[in-house]
Amino acid sequence: MKVLILGVNGFIGSHLVDRIMADTDWEVYAIATPKVYVTDPLRVFELDFEENLRVVRQCVKYKKRVVFPSTSEVYGMCPDEAFDEHESPLVTGPIPMNRWIYSTSKQLLDRVIWAYGFQQGLKFTLFRPFNWMGPKLDSLNTAKEGSSRLVTQFSWNLFNGEPLQLVDGGTARRCFIDVADAMDGLMSVLRNEGGKADGQIFNIGNPKNDYSVREIAEMMIAIWKDHPFRKERGIPEGRMVETGSGEFYGKGYQDVARRTPSIKRMQAAFGFEPKVSMKDSLKKAIDFFVEEHKALEKVVETEN
Ligand code: UDP
Repeated sequence: MKVLILGVNGFIGSHLVDRIMADTDWEVYAIATPKVYVTDPLRVFELDFEENLRVVRQCVKYKKRVVFPSTSEVYGMCPDEAFDEHESPLVTGPIPMNRWIYSTSKQLLDRVIWAYGFQQGLKFTLFRPFNWMGPKLDSLNTAKEGSSRLVTQFSWNLFNGEPLQLVDGGTARRCFIDVADAMDGLMSVLRNEGGKADGQIFNIGNPKNDYSVREIAEMMIAIWKDHPFRKERGIPEGRMVETGSGEFYGKGYQDVARRTPSIKRMQAAFGFEPKVSMKDSLKKAIDFFVEEHKALEKVVETEN
């Protein structure tokens, strides 16, 4: 059975998905990871464009406000130093590079929502997450298959004594924002005081937490070295290996070398100022994943 769960991060949804993963062989899709853009581009298009378009059209019909999660992926390989919501070009790769289907599906929906606002008065806000991270980023189960995002993937690798794989040498840079800071930003957008979010596009990210993949690996290895869970279990200290993107993701992957948000529009509208440092955010995420890891081990024990 294939299941689409809306609200999977909520109390009921997150417990439901844990139970499905533990007790069934149903297929559960996690859609917003680069691995899936490459391996299942049609599914990405169907959910991220087709299904969302239906929801948007209902909002137009019933005159509801739309707050749409666009993505930092829309900027793609934009050459600007910091990406601006209203001015930066959106630069993607050629068609055989499946990776871009997520970016362009989201971009087209951004444009459709904008056009509904322009022509039919739809009230909307588009927001663009820039590498939000923290507890529940992805389930460790997806990391087991090697298809989760960076911090979850590296956590899984560390817990299992596997090397952290640096795709193409780990030179790609990202700006990471702790999910608590990101939620402050999103709450301001939802509250929409003074209508400041109406008809706007907002990047939500933390330009101060700008690191290469290699630097992230080094920080995580340092945290892991002193972690009580590692010492208690005698799990090896972390190490890194370099790998090619073709080998890691398959054909159809094209990396984004750097991705830095301009947050001046969020600052001007809502005084948005993210606070959590990368190190603190990583520590919190690793502690959370350690607990998830222990819980998954318990499930396996019970099954056996
Ligand atoms: N990456 C890596 N090793 C991994 C997972 C990811 O080197 O085990 C790299 C990936 O190639 C990219 C960066 O980490 O350059 C961020 O990847 P992520 O999947 O978190 O998402 P993205 O920011 O590309 O949407």
